Formats: sequence, structure tokens, C-alpha cells
Amino acid sequence: MQIINGKETALEIRKELAEAVASRKAAGKKIPHLAAVLVGNDGGSMTYVGAKVKACEEIGFESTLIRFEDSITEEELLNKVNELNLDNEIDGFIVQLPLPAHIDEKKITLAIDPKKDVDGFHPENLGNMVLDLPGFLPATPAGIIELLRRYNIETSGKNCVVVGRSHIVGMPVSIMLGRNTNPGNCTVTLAHSRTQNLEELCASADILIAAIGKPLFIKENMVKEGAVVIVVGTTRVPDASKKSGFRLRGDVDYDNVAEKCSFITPVPGGVGPMTIASLMMNTLRAMELNGK
Ligand code: NAP
Repeated sequence: MQIINGKETALEIRKELAEAVASRKAAGKKIPHLAAVLVGNDGGSMTYVGAKVKACEEIGFESTLIRFEDSITEEELLNKVNELNLDNEIDGFIVQLPLPAHIDEKKITLAIDPKKDVDGFHPENLGNMVLDLPGFLPATPAGIIELLRRYNIETSGKNCVVVGRSHIVGMPVSIMLGRNTNPGNCTVTLAHSRTQNLEELCASADILIAAIGKPLFIKENMVKEGAVVIVVGTTRVPDASKKSGFRLRGDVDYDNVAEKCSFITPVPGGVGPMTIASLMMNTLRAMELNGK
């Protein structure tokens, strides 16, 4: 069994990106500039956005954090999105989700210029992903693909089961792995809460991707001997022994499953760190796509 070390891989990518920024600088080219819009004071969102801004600084990107109170109106937020769309200095930007209930997230996603949509959530980018055309891939699925690529994991012809069909993880990763690409060429089944015989289905998978959000949901009997297991779902569970008062638990019963696997991602330090690395890769890519 080999542990897929997402933390280490993400650091490697950051180093590569830092080198790319340094050579852009040396050639007198523009430095990538990522803006992040954060609405409200949700602890999780503040942590994610803070980590994204910090990652930008570390690799030499420019970054701008734009914060609004929960009380911002949809129109005000749309105005900010339009402003960022038109700002030549900003190469890519994200609006951290979730947004307060009075703001329609779909409207905001649709308002973002697809050429700056480094989260890859705009329908134009999702369409490009389906057709394998140039564009931005959603960060977490792209991070999973990058892990498979860098660990030289054979995907062609493999049975892949993805559990969870969210628009940000399960659905896009199922499409990406079914495409005629490398990594790709899997025979993919996309499972969800209505799927029947889930245990048997998971146990038939050569590659199992768990993106559910239910701690320890995937048990030993649901994993085939020698399977590649990618754990996306993480949940904070109370743990008095931790300073934070909680620990992160993955969707997979790691302690009982790991030995059966050929490869498995740990929690933490698996898929999580790759999401930010992918976002940074997308931001650098924005420069190429936009001819800068
Ligand atoms: P989500 O919107 O929370 O949806 C969960 C999915 O799991 C749904 O498709 C749901 O099915 C399915 N599901 C729920 N219970 C199930 C069951 N008993 N059997 C089979 N399927 C079931 O998904 P998400 O936003 O992708 O988040 C999933 C997890 O990934 C969360 O823990 C989140 O924190 C984590 N995540 C991690 C990263 C990262 O590591 N960077 C990034 C994004 C998300 P239905 O569609 O039928 O309801």
C-alpha cells in the first residue's frame, strides 16, 4: 500500500509555480494576480480564503482579499463581480461559497467572466471540461487528477466509482475520468444517495472516490483488494484532545481500509492541500489563456 501524499505533492506544485513566476518576472511579464471575495464571517470560509491568499504570497503571485459583511445585497455583489471582470490587473478571481441565503449563488457564478473563473464553476468552463477544450477545471477534481498523474496510477480501462455527485467535486471528477485522456479512460459510475446496492458497487471499483461528507462511511467490505481509494469528503468531529476541539475525519474508514488498497489518500494531507494548488495552477493558466 502506498499513501498518496497530497501535502508533499502540493508543495512540489507550489515550488514549480514559484519558479514559473520568477521566470515571468525575469522576462518582464505580468505577475499573476488572484482576487478572492469573501462575504460574512463563516469560520470555514475565512480559513479557506486565508489559506488561498497566503499561498499566493508564498509563490510570488499578487493577491487581493475583498471582504463584505453578510448584509451585502445581491446587486452590490454583482457590481463587484462586474468590476473585477473589467479590471485588467486581476487575472482570476473567486467568490468563496457558500453565500448568505439572500444571494443567489447561481447568479453570481454566471456573472463571473469565464476567462477569469479560476474556480472553474461557470457553465462555459464546465462545458469546455466536457468537450476537453481549453478552460479552467474545477480545483478539487483537477487536484485529484494531478495526484493520479504524479503517482503514475493507471486509470485506462479501470472501473471507477465516484460516490457523491456535487457540481464542484463528484460530477466533474466523474466526467474528467471518463474522458479519452490520461489520466482518464475509466469506465465511471457516479453514485449518490439514491444508488442501490452501493456496497457491492463500491466493492467492484478499481478506483473509488468518496466525496460524500459522512465520516467513515466507506467500510472495509466496500473496498476491493488492491483498489485505489481517493478520500475527498472530510468532516470536523469533536475531539477534546485537540487544541482546536475537533479533528478531521474522512469519508473512508482509513484504519481498516488502508491495508487493502494499492494507493490511498490520507485525511488530512491528501486531497485537501491539492485544491489550493490547483487554484494556483488555474491562475497561472489564466495568463496563458488570456495571452498575458
Ligand atoms: P455535497 O454537495 O455535500 O453532496 C454530497 C453528495 O454525497 C451528494 O451527491 C449526495 O447524494 C451524496 N450522498 C450523501 N449521502 C449519501 C449516501 N448515504 N450514499 C451515497 N451518496 C450519498 O458534496 P460536496 O460539496 O462535494 O462535499 C462532499 C465532501 O467533500 C464534504 O465533506 C466536503 O467538505 C468535502 N470537500 C472537500 C474538498 C477538499 O478536500 N478540498 C473540496 C470540496 C468538498 P445526493 O446528490 O443524492 O443528495
